[in-house]
Amino acid sequence: MKIKNITILVSFFLIVLTQYAQGTKKPNIIIILTDDQGYGDVGFNGNKQLLTPNIDKIASNGVVFTNGYSSYAVCGPSRAGLITGRYQDRFGYSRNPLFAPKDATIGLPLEEETLAEALKKGGYTNMAIGKWHLGANAIYRPLKRGFDEFFGFLSGGHKYFPEQLVLNDLSEVTSQFDAYNTKLLRNDTRIEEKEYLTDAFSREAVNFVEKNVDKPFFLYLAYNAPHAPLQATEKYLSRYKHIENKNRRTYSAMVSAVDDGVGLLLDKLKELGIEENTIVFFLSDNGGVESKGAYNGVLRGGKGALFEGGIRVPFAMQWKGTVPANQKYEHPIIALDIFATVVAQAKVSPKNDIDGKNLIPFLTKENKEAPHEELFWRMYDKNSFALIKGDLKLHKNVIGKTGLYNLKSDISEKKMLKDSILSIKLRELYKAWNAKNIAPIFDGLLEDKDYNTKHPDRYKNVEKY
Ligand code: CA
Repeated sequence: MKIKNITILVSFFLIVLTQYAQGTKKPNIIIILTDDQGYGDVGFNGNKQLLTPNIDKIASNGVVFTNGYSSYAVCGPSRAGLITGRYQDRFGYSRNPLFAPKDATIGLPLEEETLAEALKKGGYTNMAIGKWHLGANAIYRPLKRGFDEFFGFLSGGHKYFPEQLVLNDLSEVTSQFDAYNTKLLRNDTRIEEKEYLTDAFSREAVNFVEKNVDKPFFLYLAYNAPHAPLQATEKYLSRYKHIENKNRRTYSAMVSAVDDGVGLLLDKLKELGIEENTIVFFLSDNGGVESKGAYNGVLRGGKGALFEGGIRVPFAMQWKGTVPANQKYEHPIIALDIFATVVAQAKVSPKNDIDGKNLIPFLTKENKEAPHEELFWRMYDKNSFALIKGDLKLHKNVIGKTGLYNLKSDISEKKMLKDSILSIKLRELYKAWNAKNIAPIFDGLLEDKDYNTKHPDRYKNVEKY
């Protein structure tokens, strides 16, 4: 009798233990986002001048998305799409936000659920590092949007050399781009950083992973490199002495700093034995600016427009042991898919309708179809749009000219196809998609001067934060 009781007790504990182990098997999530990095600016997309050996490991450990897109051609809206898994036009985040911390209308609407908020429901510990750009007002800051920790800055860009971070807090900012000069925030506290910004972000990323090795975590590592201003330290510049063009040299050095950071992070995952339980995404938020040193490869155009160079970005992911290595995935996918993929693995239900797709069944070949029937882009202020359906792309550009292209045979969008019936059909698809969108909900960068006229107290009596 006694032995039977013990057996029952042991079985009971075994069941509990198994369930516990399964419950904790939720994969860790790391999103490494770079800023304005061109499609051609990674080794895995063929670059031999600018070396990214560590970023390339993500690709060889997993998948290169040759047709991986961001949801917009500049920073702010692209990030709003990425972090919500929804086309940002659904909720009017269709402009780069102005830096106006007193204005509680400028930021990611609170009805929207961030990936961090979704993952909180699944017991994750979350950290955002680097560039935020989703609202500087108190109600929109990272710690209010599902992140347990934050290290970085709230604005759309930043200086890289610590000695240039001379403003103590938001109350000392007196113009849109002045926010680039603020000291960094650790959670709610301004700190004295001593390292080159990119190195500091990498350091914090490694520390966060080390500290949270025993729990499911989400790390949103949003480097502002290689976004302007072009600033790099000798450590990285010395690798590119042979590049004559100064912008290209500095830009390459900035990407090299990111690459070193990615290396440290990947090494840490290996060292801690959590490689197979961690999904790592790498992508850029939009295309590069070639006049500022970027290289979009054979793609036409760059940041700020809906030609491929503006929206097709370097994009790769790894999930060792689950997603087969050394894949090139060619069906079009979009940054919005990250949210959908992650919540499916974390087994949490998103609050809102999401536009992305869980990519895992496509990457394990369980599903051989294309993840998306169509992908869409809207640049509200420029009356420009694009949609991709299969190999075809319809694009109304910023000067009002509409062209139909076959991306498979004409990746550089050089030859407009003459098929007015098809163009009309695709335009109807765009109209149907756009019918569910709303107009921009706040003033953007273009309204900077107008906003100052309307709000002469924009920079006055701002909180010391
Ligand atoms: Ca950007």
